[in-house]
Amino acid sequence: MSTVDLPAPTVRRHPFHLLAKPAGAICNLDCTYCFFLSKELLYEGSRFRMADELLDAYIRQLVEAHGPVPEVTVAWQGGEPTLMGLDFFRRSLEYERRYARPGQRIVNTIQTNGTLIDAEWARFFRDNDFLVGLSVDGPRELHDAYRVDKGGKPTFDRVMRGLGHLRTHGVQWNALTTLHDANAGHGRSVYAFLRDYCGATHMQFIPIVERTTPHDLPLANDGWGARAKDRPVYRQEGDEVTDRSVTGQQYGRFLIDVFEDWVRHDVGRVYVQMFDVALANWYGEQPSLCVHSRTCGSALALEHNGDLYSCDHFVEPDHLLGNIGDRHMLELVDSPQQRKFGQDKYDTLPRYCHDCDVRFACHGGCPKDRFDATPDGEPGLNHLCAGFKAFFHHVDRPMRTMAGLLRQGRAPALIMREYVSADANRPHNALCPCEGGRKWARCHGKPVPTSQL
Ligand code: SF4
Ligand code: SF4
Repeated sequence: MSTVDLPAPTVRRHPFHLLAKPAGAICNLDCTYCFFLSKELLYEGSRFRMADELLDAYIRQLVEAHGPVPEVTVAWQGGEPTLMGLDFFRRSLEYERRYARPGQRIVNTIQTNGTLIDAEWARFFRDNDFLVGLSVDGPRELHDAYRVDKGGKPTFDRVMRGLGHLRTHGVQWNALTTLHDANAGHGRSVYAFLRDYCGATHMQFIPIVERTTPHDLPLANDGWGARAKDRPVYRQEGDEVTDRSVTGQQYGRFLIDVFEDWVRHDVGRVYVQMFDVALANWYGEQPSLCVHSRTCGSALALEHNGDLYSCDHFVEPDHLLGNIGDRHMLELVDSPQQRKFGQDKYDTLPRYCHDCDVRFACHGGCPKDRFDATPDGEPGLNHLCAGFKAFFHHVDRPMRTMAGLLRQGRAPALIMREYVSADANRPHNALCPCEGGRKWARCHGKPVPTSQL
């Protein structure tokens, strides 16, 4: 029996999301912090291209696994998925049309570094309603700190050229910005750059936490791509982090700095994933992000050869569920191993988190980052805890207000009026309400200078 023919099992269906990596970890860039580049070593000798038969099986199983839902998302990621070329995605669309149920909508998303996007790609994305996630780390200097090519050359201009094609052709896109030691201290200018220079209306900020062991730390500090000699395969182990990794304090400060601008000017106009997730938790709804949900396990990763892993952050042998060429995806998604993976997020939460006043919003963060000890010595505290606490405490009052507005059927954007009137009466030399320690007039009371964009 070929992979295309595996019958759909009759097991419980529950919502899940799958990131497929048709080119595996292969990328045309060599971003220094990208530990995923080292996953190439898990598949030495591979061509790193998803075969047509597997693509067919993947799309069929994905549609079957979702049952009669009105919409199924096909999410492409990497490495760099555009390395597969347009024909690969054209074939994928053929399979989507073939396997979709009557009336069912298939939505395609693709995460890209943007450097290979030209007018033809942009037209293809627009014509087929792709939602494009573009990796951009901020203004030129901040972006180029780590986002470089195989020769170590900066990529800012190539990314902006790709973005220009997306915007010219009216492609739906969102910005994915990783936070690291170079850009985390520049929350306001990163946000203003994405909003005003790039025209982003949807943003995700992803903290870089590159975990490693004391033994591997010097190698890890050199990076994970082809430029690094003797790179180890990245694993979620060890309690050291690279010099590039963001600290909890930096992460919290970044989010607060962005929030204080967003809540004054952009509520309802700019979507920042973390703020939306926080609002969902304050409102009492399930948030869209696994990291701040009680349990997880519904965001899996598919390698180019059909290997299915528990999560994009756990593409490592211990978290391999199986291959969709041998067992139907639905069986793997619903396996006891995967259910345990998701439940462990809650079951391994330290007492310190259970007693925390913002646990309802935080839920301990992602298990991959839980390698610190609590103040009383219990293992398993999130490396970013200080940032989570600072941010969730800081936004408690405005989140209550916005959740209250939602409950009354009113727009959360009305909160901006409160800020306008409070700011109108704020003395210039008062401390800025962002709690960063600077005067209002020199901090959030002043627009970000265009020279910093
Ligand atoms: S391990 Fe982290 S990223 Fe993966 S599904 Fe769980 S919370 Fe999400
Ligand atoms: S803020 Fe810290 S203590 Fe509270 S739930 Fe999150 S990780 Fe745990």
